[in-house]
Amino acid sequence: MSALAIVQTQNLSKTYGANNSVNKVDLRVQEGEIYGFLGPNGAGKTTTLKMLLGLVKPTEGTIHIFGENLSKHRPSILQRTGSLIESPSYYGHLTGLENMKVMQRLRNVPDKNVHEALRIVRLENQKNKKTEQYSLGMKQRLGIAMALLAFPKLLILDEPTNGLDPAGIGEIRELIKSLPERYGITVLLSSHLLSEIEQIATSVGIITQGNLLYQGSMASLRQKNRNAIFMKTGDNAKAEQLLLTQGYSPAQSGSRLELGTLQDTEVAEMNRLLVEHRIEVTRIEEQKTSLEDIFLELTGKGRSL
Ligand code: ATP
Repeated sequence: MSALAIVQTQNLSKTYGANNSVNKVDLRVQEGEIYGFLGPNGAGKTTTLKMLLGLVKPTEGTIHIFGENLSKHRPSILQRTGSLIESPSYYGHLTGLENMKVMQRLRNVPDKNVHEALRIVRLENQKNKKTEQYSLGMKQRLGIAMALLAFPKLLILDEPTNGLDPAGIGEIRELIKSLPERYGITVLLSSHLLSEIEQIATSVGIITQGNLLYQGSMASLRQKNRNAIFMKTGDNAKAEQLLLTQGYSPAQSGSRLELGTLQDTEVAEMNRLLVEHRIEVTRIEEQKTSLEDIFLELTGKGRSL
């Protein structure tokens, strides 16, 4: 049985002038997931997330959150959703705690939420400092604390680790990872960094130029992480014919034959066959396709991560 879809979009599109910033995207975020929305700069991540929050009006398509249509039930959906899109908004002349209290009044939640959210993001000791004196990491944590304030069922974070140092990134990552289990929060976050998504997400959606190219569990993306065997022989054409008759699937690849993923015993058997047929085997190599290669294959080479 499939888990409940917390976010489900159909044909979701946004056009600015002649440009399709988001093109017929069917997003599906399931309950309890950390869904990583991955794509290079300008891919359409922020535009999509803004549409989910009703901040940008879709040109086409539908959005269901918690199974309800966003265009019909926006206030009740947003009450159960926390978000941090682009930079956090706060009053610099107020302290972290005072900023939280401003948000508390808007959200109408009890005091204990304020303290719990500050505790989770580890800002308790800095809560009486003016936020204009906060470091970038502290500001980002305050933004997350504000998004957490009502302990939403869904948390949407746009590039939450942007601009942070490695220690700060690690801290935010651990914090986000703990949310589904400890607080029953489903997280949808975006990033342009594959390494980041790889370390944090349980599911991934890959978007480029407005098109969702892949969506699925991180585990199935990793399964694409294949290791292929390549062989170089004295006569690749003859070797290819021979291996084909033996049920293998060789393919010419430059000066080598690509043989796909094979067991050790199959490699040994192939080698024996070729030698028996007086075809010299000059090289047997294993080539690993990393997640980064898969990402580049999907998004088109030359695009930055
Ligand atoms: P980044 O990681 O750089 O923030 P992104 O994946 O979030 O990128 P978006 O900000 O969603 O990408 O932008 C997608 C495309 O839509 C870009 O080509 C951008 O220029 C365009 N775009 C976004 N907002 C607007 C707007 N208000 N008016 C016109 N074009 C826009």
